[in-house]
Amino acid sequence: MLRIIACLCFVAVSINGLAQAPKSTHADTLRGSITPQRVWWDLTYYHLKVTPNAKDSTLSGSTQVVYKVIQPNQTIQIDLQEPLQISKVIQDGESLRFKRDGSAFFIDLKKKQEVGKTETIEVFYSGKPRLAKRPPWDGGVQWVPDGKGNTIISTSCQGLGSSVWWPCKDHMYDEPDSMQISITVPKNLMDVSNGNLRSVVENNDNTHTFNWFVKNPINNYGVNMNVANYVSWKETFKGEKGDLAVSYYVLPQNLEKAKEQFKQAPQMLKAFEHWFGPYPFYEDGYKLVEVPYLGMEHQSSVTYGNGYKMGYLGRDLSNTGWGLKWDFIIIHESGHEWFANNITYKDVADMWVHEGFTNYSENLYTEYYFGKEAGSDYVIGTRALIANDEPIIGTYGVNQEGSKDMYYKGGNLLHTIRQVVNDDEKWRQILRGLNKTFYHQTVDGSQIEAYVSEQAGRNLSKVFDQYLRDVRIPVLEYSFGNKGLQYRWANVVDGFDMPVKVKIGSGKEEFLYPTAEWKSLKTKSEKTLSVDRNFYVESKESKQASL
Ligand SMILES: [Zn+2]
Repeated sequence: MLRIIACLCFVAVSINGLAQAPKSTHADTLRGSITPQRVWWDLTYYHLKVTPNAKDSTLSGSTQVVYKVIQPNQTIQIDLQEPLQISKVIQDGESLRFKRDGSAFFIDLKKKQEVGKTETIEVFYSGKPRLAKRPPWDGGVQWVPDGKGNTIISTSCQGLGSSVWWPCKDHMYDEPDSMQISITVPKNLMDVSNGNLRSVVENNDNTHTFNWFVKNPINNYGVNMNVANYVSWKETFKGEKGDLAVSYYVLPQNLEKAKEQFKQAPQMLKAFEHWFGPYPFYEDGYKLVEVPYLGMEHQSSVTYGNGYKMGYLGRDLSNTGWGLKWDFIIIHESGHEWFANNITYKDVADMWVHEGFTNYSENLYTEYYFGKEAGSDYVIGTRALIANDEPIIGTYGVNQEGSKDMYYKGGNLLHTIRQVVNDDEKWRQILRGLNKTFYHQTVDGSQIEAYVSEQAGRNLSKVFDQYLRDVRIPVLEYSFGNKGLQYRWANVVDGFDMPVKVKIGSGKEEFLYPTAEWKSLKTKSEKTLSVDRNFYVESKESKQASL
């Protein structure tokens, strides 16, 4: 998901010293932790059935939840946010009793839940869901007149949670293995959701039902409903895993513009398969779907609202010119297919796994088509947007994100680690290896850190600590004295030992291996030092440090 505007606002707040860690509540714990009523069952399948009604902005429908019992328990937690209401819950034809605690519903199961067995409940609901105030950052359901008497209906809910529009297990750690989404709309409109369209069933009441099927695990905020009088076209992308079905859905008036702009989609697939490995959802296809908001990484149906402009709504976030060479939403939101939809955080506190890597993918895309220096220019250019206000990692267990620095600082952290690895092919294999090793999994951020360290052949834990868990930027302090160059890291966490590439005088670039202790290096008479710009560090000549 994108947080650009939110990010800029946040910078302004923190400069004034007003940023404060948000306090968590009982409701945050119910939403953000693996409660006793969640931990005992493993989600295997959802069938979501929804009928949106544009006349009064309401939804009605049900979710069938199929799960495997892994521990004995008789109470199941299902989430649905106010003002939506659950009217009925059924298991094996019997109606069940439930209690509401905010957005959490605790349902008493009558049937004995036996470990190892697969069970099903169906949860019926209706009501007027929260309107998306500023999607995708402040999401919900959006109802927008299309000027032709129809209503465009779209959903977006990262962070807020998918329980804002349908009943589900609203925690990221558990994903269904597959999912069916059935959306009923008026005959002149269509729905585009995730996966493949299996059938369209014509109903007697001037509506039809679109049945979409997702063959792969899907995270809950990735599920979406997009209703409009779309026109579409298709193509086949010849990728690393064979033929990938690619389809596009846009409003009729934008068809010509879209056909031109969306040529970037196969270009994106080519570049990202090179860097990250095969597109992770061949079985579900890849779709780009026009919506009235900026965009979101909905799995296998990436939503698009960048106005058919280059850059981010026509702006270059890096201020280098490279950001205007491509459409930010096509590239960024699709990058999330690898980092967000394929590798998914268990807890939103680790959101850098989605946004740090996806921000970084923008620079790799730039490099793929415009060269290595261009990619470096881009990622370095985005440093101006880093606030260093609070750590990138948020608070676990209460559905709380960390600093918006997860985007640009996250990207610069990865670019810096690439310099430390100092072997471009090895680095590419690490990125591809991540997508293979954690294929279709939910992860703790620490698993990603450990994998990168292991594959790099160097313990990078202090580097991750510095950039993800601290706000200070390392300073390479140095001085030239009788013994040559003295240098050390300042402004760092205990044990920080990242190598850094420098140029001394007119010599060649070379690595220094500083720690927090002063070290020395014999040098020739030249007394200048410059740090490779690709490292996100600072440097300072120290007058008094000479040994
Ligand atoms: Zn994003």
